[in-house]
Amino acid sequence: MTSLNKISLFSLDIVNAKTEDALAALLKGGARRTAAFLNAHCMNVAAKTPIYQWALKKADYLLPDGSGLQLAAKLQGKRFVENLNGTDLFVPLCRKAAALGLSIYFLGSAEGVARKASEAARKIAPALKVAGTRHGYFYSEEEDRIIDEINASGADIVLVALGVPRQDVWIARNRHRINARLVMGVGAQFDFWAG
Ligand code: UDP
Repeated sequence: MTSLNKISLFSLDIVNAKTEDALAALLKGGARRTAAFLNAHCMNVAAKTPIYQWALKKADYLLPDGSGLQLAAKLQGKRFVENLNGTDLFVPLCRKAAALGLSIYFLGSAEGVARKASEAARKIAPALKVAGTRHGYFYSEEEDRIIDEINASGADIVLVALGVPRQDVWIARNRHRINARLVMGVGAQFDFWAG
């Protein structure tokens, strides 16, 4: 596992790195990695939701999203060198994935939104390979088939937009059977990029 500096807040180890270094670690081959963005709202949900805490502890990389986390770090005399939020990371992630020839599967949000987000990603990075898209309203009985589809697509990266905490719990529970090198929860990012 590529090591990145981390700051420990509320017993979670949160990445303290510049975007470029964080992305290099996230996209490095040779291992299956998971990542989640954490903002103050997530911290509040985690404090009340043991299964979400479990999922966050299982994640390889927790990325600091927003001023609430910076404030919490400051109270400990520490400072995140960069705010690694989903909106800012999406563009360099798509560009770097395209440059490395890595494909992305977009899973989540309402019907049609993942596809529109993938089209926005192709505008950002025209060479990007889209492995597939699928909406995020499914029953647990459908999970096996969805995971088979993701694996059959050959996706290197899976972005999961099922909302907090569902997406992170879903990732933690299913990570071992998804072949992609990176599976990352992205919240409402698809809606944002779908416009
Ligand atoms: N979503 C989904 N399946 C669900 C619940 C939510 O695909 O069962 C999607 C929703 O359409 C939205 C994204 O998850 O695109 C984020 O949802 P929400 O705004 O509720 O979550 P948050 O921003 O708090 O993570």
